[in-house]
Amino acid sequence: MNKHFDLIVVGGGFAGVAAAMEAARHGRHVLLVDKYNCLGGTAVGGLVLPFMPYSTREEGNDRPLTGDLFLEIVDGLDKLGGLGANRKCFDEEILKLVLQRMCLKYGVELLFNTTITDACVENGKIKSLSAWGKSRHMTLTADAFIDATGDAELSVLSGASYQLGREEDNLCQPMTLSFRVGGVDIPKAREHRQLLNDLYLQWQAEGKITNPRENVLLFATCHDTVYHFNTTRVVKHDPTDPMEVTKAEIIAREQVFEIMELLKEIPGYEKAFLQSTALQIGIRESRMVEGLYKLTVEDLKGLARFEDAIAVANYDIDIHNPEGSGTSHYYFAPGDWYEIPYRCLVPKGFENLLVAGRCISSTHEAQASYRIMPYCAELGQAAGAAVAVAQENGTTLPNVDIKKLQAILREEKYMI
Ligand SMILES: Cc1cc2nc3c(=O)[nH]c(=O)nc-3n(C[C@H](O)[C@H](O)[C@H](O)COP(=O)(O)OP(=O)(O)OC[C@H]3O[C@@H](n4cnc5c(N)ncnc54)[C@H](O)[C@@H]3O)c2cc1C
Repeated sequence: MNKHFDLIVVGGGFAGVAAAMEAARHGRHVLLVDKYNCLGGTAVGGLVLPFMPYSTREEGNDRPLTGDLFLEIVDGLDKLGGLGANRKCFDEEILKLVLQRMCLKYGVELLFNTTITDACVENGKIKSLSAWGKSRHMTLTADAFIDATGDAELSVLSGASYQLGREEDNLCQPMTLSFRVGGVDIPKAREHRQLLNDLYLQWQAEGKITNPRENVLLFATCHDTVYHFNTTRVVKHDPTDPMEVTKAEIIAREQVFEIMELLKEIPGYEKAFLQSTALQIGIRESRMVEGLYKLTVEDLKGLARFEDAIAVANYDIDIHNPEGSGTSHYYFAPGDWYEIPYRCLVPKGFENLLVAGRCISSTHEAQASYRIMPYCAELGQAAGAAVAVAQENGTTLPNVDIKKLQAILREEKYMI
C-alpha cells in the first residue's frame, strides 16, 4: 500500500474500533485493519453478548464507567432496533453496521480480510507491518501503532514480552464456542429452567454430557424465540497455539450437540433448532503484554487510584475455572470502582506502540474484570487519544502529556 498513516490500529473489536475512531476525530489519519470482513471482533466472530454492567451509582443515579464512543455505539444500536429493552443484549448484524458507519463518519480508513503477519522494528520503533490480504502481500507503514488484537499478536510479532494466562502455570480462562438456539418458546422454557440444569448435571454424571461446566449458561437475545448459549467449556488448551485451538473447536462443537440433545427433553424446546455457532471459539484470556505497569488484583480490590489513570472499571472479577468446573466471582460494592493507569497500555521497550482491550498489561486475576466489552472500548478510546496527544506534541508514546490526555478523556465522559 502506498499510503503512510499517522496510526495503524490492528484489530477491529471494541478496543480497536474505539481507538481508531478516537484518534481520527482528533485529526489523525488512521487505518484500522482486521482479518474478519467486518467490525466487532469477538462480539461478532465469537457471538458474545450481553454488555456486562459498566456503571456506578453517583448521587442516586447510574453513571457509566466508559467513554462517549461506547455510549454512541449503544445509542446507534438502539436507533436501528438492534438493542434489547434492557440495553444489554444486541443484534450483532446491526452492530457490524453501526460500527462501520461510525468509523467512516469519523474518517477511519478500513482494511478487512487482512492479517498482520510480521513487524519490522528498529530501536524500539515499529517501522512497518507485513500483511496478507485477499491474495496479496502488503507492507503497511505508520508513525504509531495500536495492538487491539485481543491476543496481543502485533506486540508479539514486534518482540514484546508478555504473560500467558495464570502466572503459576500459564493456564487461561476456558474457551467457549457460543451458539444460538432458535424456535424456543421462551416463557415455557423459563418455567423449566431448573429442570434444564438438573438434567444437565444428571447427564454429566452419566457421561452423556462431557462439558465440565457446572451448569447451563444462557441469555436472552433481542429476538423473542432465540436463546444465546454461552455454556461450552474447553480447558487446558493454549488459545494462542493453532493446533490447540483447532482441538478446542472440535471438542466444543461436540459439546454444542450434546446440549441440543438435552434440550429435546425440556418443555419449551419442542421446535428448537441450532440457529448458528460462532465463527470461532471465544477466547476470554490469552496473552497480557508486559507494560510499564502491571495491574494486579490487589489494585482492583484496593480500589486503586493512579496519577496517570486513563480508565475506570468495576465489573466483578469473574473467573471461569481454567481447570474444569466452577466459576468464581468477586463483586465490587455499589459505588466502588478502580482505576487503570496509562502505563498498562505501554509495552516495555517501545516508542510508538500501545496495546488496548483485553491484552493490556495485567495479571490473570485483574484481567478477569476489565476484559468486558464496555471497558475494552474505554481502553481503546484512551489509547487513541494518547496517540493524538503524543503526535500533536511531538513526543513518544511513553512520554505522552498525561494531564492533557486526561483533560481530553474527562471531556469525553471519562470518570477519572
Ligand atoms: C465466551 C465469551 C463470553 C464473553 N461474555 C461477555 C459478556 O457477556 N459481556 C461482555 O461485555 N464481555 C464478554 N466477554 C469478553 C469480551 O467479549 C472480550 O473480552 C472483548 O470483546 C475483547 O475485545 P477486544 O477489542 O480487546 O478484542 P477482540 O474483540 O477479540 O478483537 C480483536 C480483533 O483483532 C483481530 N485480529 C487479531 N489478530 C489479528 C491479526 N494478526 N491481523 C488482523 N486482525 C487481527 C480479530 O479478528 C478481532 O476482530 C466474553 C468473551 C468470551 C470469549
